[in-house]
Amino acid sequence: MSDYVFAPPPRPAVPVDGGGHFPVHRIYCVGLNYADHIREFGRDPKASAPVFFMKPADAVVANGAAIPYPPRTASFHHEIELVVAIGRGGSGIAPARALEHVFGYAAGNDLTRRDLQKAAKDRGQPWDISKGFDHSAPIAALRPASRGHLSRGRIWLSVNGEPRQESDLGQMICDVPHLIAELSTFYTLEPGDLIFTGTPSGVGPLKPGDRIAGGIEGLEVLTNTIVAAT
Ligand code: MN
Repeated sequence: MSDYVFAPPPRPAVPVDGGGHFPVHRIYCVGLNYADHIREFGRDPKASAPVFFMKPADAVVANGAAIPYPPRTASFHHEIELVVAIGRGGSGIAPARALEHVFGYAAGNDLTRRDLQKAAKDRGQPWDISKGFDHSAPIAALRPASRGHLSRGRIWLSVNGEPRQESDLGQMICDVPHLIAELSTFYTLEPGDLIFTGTPSGVGPLKPGDRIAGGIEGLEVLTNTIVAAT
């Protein structure tokens, strides 16, 4: 289009291991998808179904980038997660065909203003301001699914070299095919969509100066530093 009243912002993108960039369309997220993480919030895993929410596409943060401590929170938390990148769109996708829609996989961090999330839960309000804020979606390079799908493997996160989160992708309550199938009953998935698939237990607070490293077996390690707000 040539008659925009100002230049549109650049499309957020994630580098692909092996070359090129993946243009981001939407960022979907799944809450409460590891039994141990549900228990750390004092809830019953059997009574909990995956909860979907979203982050804006321009919340993407590059691997290695500094992240400013966000405003309006005193409880800024890390959540290491497997991120699934959608390469082929669709709705009403069958679980048995779901992996055909996957472009690739990456390690991501679902950064959370935990105090605002708790207040929202207590009041029955939306999660947007606790989850979908600026710089809330750091993500490492995507590994194409042509090099294999991921259903198990170590997932971990450390802060200043100290272990915080440690689990296995096999501990997910709802696996990747069923997450894609379920999500595609609510939305038409499009090429460029990312899905953060939930975090294991061990979530905790971050402060300026912290060095975060997080990874998933077989994928690029995600590292970011928290800096004081300017
Ligand atoms: Mn999460």
